[in-house]
Amino acid sequence: MKPIGILGGTFDPIHYGHLRLAEEMRELAGLQQVRFIPTGNPPHRDTPQVTAHHRSAMVQLAIADHPDFVLDEREAKKTIKCFTINTLRELRSELGETQPLCLLMGGDAFLQLHTWHEWEQLLDLTHIVVGYRPGFTLEERIHSAPAQLRKHYQERLCSVDYLSQQAAGGIAELAIPKLEISATLIRSRVAENRTIRYLLPATVADYIYQHHLYTPC
Ligand code: ATP
Repeated sequence: MKPIGILGGTFDPIHYGHLRLAEEMRELAGLQQVRFIPTGNPPHRDTPQVTAHHRSAMVQLAIADHPDFVLDEREAKKTIKCFTINTLRELRSELGETQPLCLLMGGDAFLQLHTWHEWEQLLDLTHIVVGYRPGFTLEERIHSAPAQLRKHYQERLCSVDYLSQQAAGGIAELAIPKLEISATLIRSRVAENRTIRYLLPATVADYIYQHHLYTPC
């Protein structure tokens, strides 16, 4: 069964780094769909600069022309803090026990996994697919991670084929050229009245200007 990919993020705003990550993983891991799940009230970081409503609207504009990309607003609509583990429990009960799920993330996010709520249970519900830059493998960087995360990584490393053979439990690495784009960069460029063209879809840039997002009050 083809896996469903899950890409959570603040998406404050969504940009081509996120979209390329999702598209490369869709292709390389043979995903039937990628669900973009904007955070509502993220437990790990400063409150996003704009509301979940605006962040979701920008994701919708960014993925509108992709038949296999879907916006999932379940976290954005909640007013309580959402942990990924709970979102995965919901998805697992909706999609069934046999549907392979792949939680998609960049290498930097994976190296912080041990800080996530109930992180050791994540692999009971999903695979984890990590994008790394060619030449900067996780294998080389995992040595700096805490022992428990290293152990998880070493025991669960799997092939791409495994992602469609089992519903959950594997950690796969995919070489994905990382675009040097971040939401932080875009927010600071808007605030400084500098161009953001070609860093994100034009429809998202238009939305930012129409709604005066990321500009100092
Ligand atoms: P910020 O700059 O506000 O910290 P961000 O651009 O890193 O935000 P997030 O919403 O925090 O975006 O990221 C969501 C996911 O996308 C994470 O798994 C992150 O590793 C990944 N990601 C973000 N930017 C890139 C990029 N340029 N290339 C590949 N993956 C990325």
